[in-house]
Amino acid sequence: MTIKHDILVFLLTNLNIQQLNFEFLRYKIFPKDYSSSLYLALQSDNILIRTKGAAGPSAGASYDPSYDSFELRPNFSISNWRDQGFFIHESTHAIVDMRNIGPHSGHEDEAVAYLAEAIFLESSKKSPLGNQSIRMISHNIAKGILSSRQIKVSDADAKKLVSEVAQHPMYQSTALYNSNRFKRNLIHRLLR
Ligand SMILES: [Zn+2]
Repeated sequence: MTIKHDILVFLLTNLNIQQLNFEFLRYKIFPKDYSSSLYLALQSDNILIRTKGAAGPSAGASYDPSYDSFELRPNFSISNWRDQGFFIHESTHAIVDMRNIGPHSGHEDEAVAYLAEAIFLESSKKSPLGNQSIRMISHNIAKGILSSRQIKVSDADAKKLVSEVAQHPMYQSTALYNSNRFKRNLIHRLLR
């Protein structure tokens, strides 16, 4: 079985994905974003899965909106719970890209992705992928969402998480992310 096949099965059948139902600032995330929209984008190769390696050594996966592709570590395995957490994080970036909202705050985009990762892992009864304060705050918000069955994250909690992302050295140069669905320039089409 290919990695693409395994990921499609994961998106369709993993029950913890059904808990990814939340509202964070202007971002509304639903389970069907993963089990249907992303599923279809991968199935049709509008989004590709490549195994050249993720953006950084600490990441199990990354999503590149210019190529509309996931970049996975060569030994990435969707049956591994940590890789599932990384993949849900990157999938959330892909989902925001598919919304075609144009240039927007990269810090908000990261906050949404960290929160989705945390809700997925808390629902899976797993621990955070690291002890960074961004992940601690995300997991606290996630526990509140899952226990209260409330969908909306309070604006105070949302601002706290976004400002924690903004202060992290890794995200200081990422003030703006683009969201343009499957639009690609000539270079990105040729090199895809
Ligand atoms: Zn991210």
